Amino acid sequence: MGRLFGTNGVRGIVGKSMHPDLALRLGKAVGSWLRAGDTIAVGSDARLSADMLKAAFCAGVHSTGVHTLDVGVVPSPGIQLYVRDKGLAGGAIMTASHNPPEYNGIKLIAPDGTETSQDEEAAVERLHFDEHFRSATWDQVGTHRVVEDAAGHYIDAVLAQVDQEAIRGAGLKVVLDPGGGAGAVTAPVLMERLGVEVVPIACEPDPLFSSRPSEPTEANAAAAIAAVKREGADLGILQDGDADRAVFLDEKGGYVWGDRSLALAALHELRRHPPGSIVCTAVSSSSCVADAVGMGGGRLEWTVVGSPVVAREMIRLGAVFGGEDNGGLMFARHQVCRDGLMAMAFMLELLATTGRTMSDLVSEIPEYALVKEKVPVPDDAKQAVLARLREDVQSLEGVQRIDDRDGVKVYFDEGWVLVRPSGTEPIFRVQAEARDEAHARRLVDRFLGVLHGVLA
Ligand code: MG
Repeated sequence: MGRLFGTNGVRGIVGKSMHPDLALRLGKAVGSWLRAGDTIAVGSDARLSADMLKAAFCAGVHSTGVHTLDVGVVPSPGIQLYVRDKGLAGGAIMTASHNPPEYNGIKLIAPDGTETSQDEEAAVERLHFDEHFRSATWDQVGTHRVVEDAAGHYIDAVLAQVDQEAIRGAGLKVVLDPGGGAGAVTAPVLMERLGVEVVPIACEPDPLFSSRPSEPTEANAAAAIAAVKREGADLGILQDGDADRAVFLDEKGGYVWGDRSLALAALHELRRHPPGSIVCTAVSSSSCVADAVGMGGGRLEWTVVGSPVVAREMIRLGAVFGGEDNGGLMFARHQVCRDGLMAMAFMLELLATTGRTMSDLVSEIPEYALVKEKVPVPDDAKQAVLARLREDVQSLEGVQRIDDRDGVKVYFDEGWVLVRPSGTEPIFRVQAEARDEAHARRLVDRFLGVLHGVLA
């Protein structure tokens, strides 16, 4: 049986690995997995192929007797919130997040608004491959209804989480670059309602991402960085294609790395909660997150890599906050999924209520050096190599602690090393973090040696 779902739903290049036939079958599988008469939300980011895939997917769903509510182009977290708050049986989002415009995908949402678990995806996958589809009779087929209130509901919910008066009174100026993605539908409206002066870049939905690639990296932030400097803005904000993530620029145009904005948000979110409150992040995140959680009086719980897992661990442990080092922040008091609009509202509130600059706030977070390498390992050898590696690291000199919940992470006095098989490529990723680059480099080199020893 083939694997359809990756770490973030089903994804591929339109016309090649992602096409209407696949969307139709997946719609039949999802509908068959639900009960006849159920209703799900469907929506998309701003990609050109969204309508085509959505129509095919919905036809499949309808054929099983399940209804669809079409929310249109809305950020993924807005669709997730809609599913939860309207008590729907689930949701499906046509999105390829940060991938180039020729990609698209289908991501499934559970009734509580979180991304579906691997078990749930495996169940849908089995129905898909076995073609165990339920077929509704002519008088029981599902129907399609377009609804207009999802974006508004989402914006209202985020506004309710922040001190709107403080933000309005702060006279903030922001360079806003949603990159023509789904964030263009909601972020400018949020800014307007908060009285924030906006210098807009790509604030209209753009199916071709013609202004910049959709991933908000430092290189892709060049126009926003220049605008922050030119306009004397207090903050720069960039989003990815489906706007579940937000990354920030300080008032000097400095790119704030995702691990540092995650740490900053953890520190200040913890101040609203009792001491000992839990924060979750993946084992691949920087130690600066652990430091910030310590500074905020919280407790950090590491998880397996991948936002659906972080979210599920947050729910299981009753965490107040969590996230990833790519700008995906999760505020449990709002909803337990990555939420770019919530992240930007939180940062605006932080600037407004502290009266501090972004660079000053970020300077509180300790800095580490990260070095990354990759080593080719054939897919069919990955598990054996990992098992050997887990054994071999036990006897290494200077090992403080080993965490093997995802790959193998080894802590030393001077820093840590994480070795993980890639889920999508025939490689192992090796990353090391230490106080300075020379130490991190030494750790990586040492582990490249260990890995090559196993492979020899
Ligand atoms: Mg995304």
